[in-house]
Amino acid sequence: MSDRRGGAGLETGVVIRSTGSWYDVQAGDELVPCKVRGKFRLSGLDTTAPVVVGDRVRFRRNADDTGVIEEIGERQQCLVRRAAGRRVGKAHVIAANIDFAWVVQAWDLPRFNPGFVDRFLVMAGLNGLPAGIMINKIDLVEGREEKAELKRIVRLYENLGHDVIKVSAETGRGVSRVRRRLADRISVLAGPSGVGKTTLLNQVARDLDLRTGEISAATGKGTHTTTVASLHPLGNGGYVVDTPGLREFGLIGLDPGHLSHYFPEMAPLIPECRFPNCTHDHEPGCAVKDAVDEGRLDLGRYDSYLGMLYSLHLGDADVGR
Ligand code: GDP
Ligand code: ZN
Repeated sequence: MSDRRGGAGLETGVVIRSTGSWYDVQAGDELVPCKVRGKFRLSGLDTTAPVVVGDRVRFRRNADDTGVIEEIGERQQCLVRRAAGRRVGKAHVIAANIDFAWVVQAWDLPRFNPGFVDRFLVMAGLNGLPAGIMINKIDLVEGREEKAELKRIVRLYENLGHDVIKVSAETGRGVSRVRRRLADRISVLAGPSGVGKTTLLNQVARDLDLRTGEISAATGKGTHTTTVASLHPLGNGGYVVDTPGLREFGLIGLDPGHLSHYFPEMAPLIPECRFPNCTHDHEPGCAVKDAVDEGRLDLGRYDSYLGMLYSLHLGDADVGR
């Protein structure tokens, strides 16, 4: 698109930061702080925000060089989770139009959380996003047993078709691999706080052009301008959506009866279950449970499955454990 000043006086851009009330829209070389027209707020009842980072939008410019978002382009793949806190039950679209989703975990401090990882992978799968796992703080892996455990985890997820990167933002080990994997695409990184996401991104972007401190005039005005998510150009053709630490990764938009389809190791076993509507929980003649008993299917993954199954049946109560 050569002319971004389209018809009816609207300009086009991409939302690169959201604070909940203001959206920073990158339009060419310019960063335009925008608000959203009231009608979007009303139409987006089931989601927490009408506009998200990564959205391609058309906006009308005000005299003071702020803007009003009038149109939102059709979204390609999004990363979505169930909203927490007072908005629980709604869909929280973390970012739109992304190519790849990474869940970031620390090996320790805080402890690697397979439940979080498995929920993330299910939600990525549901939304058609390829996903990988970054395991940071591998400098904290101590002794033969922990090394073997790390190896087992890496192999487990690689066998499920996911990229797994072991990295230490502290020592720099693995950082160049992370940098390569983030080039030439839009990636989203999500994880609980404390896993080292900020440290890692600063390492990745050290020789690049991570524009972290760039806060627009308008967003600086607000008193409570907690950033919801932000899109950073890495300078190597890659863009990263950074999200603040997530305490949990809740499921939404998923029928409990379809959950097993998002566990690729279970899917081929399902036709062998005795009952066609088997939930792989208590039913006799369940091929999934047989596989767990015989060690062909990872017990931790099966536990994750059951935890998700119960939380989907319970609804609100037990998300993200
Ligand atoms: P975030 O909340 O995920 O953004 O985490 P931070 O980047 O703020 O890091 C949390 C803490 O972990 C800080 O004290 C970092 O110094 C530390 N940290 C980050 N990366 C590593 C790592 O690779 N190894 C170790 N040992 N500590 C790290
Ligand atoms: Zn079954």
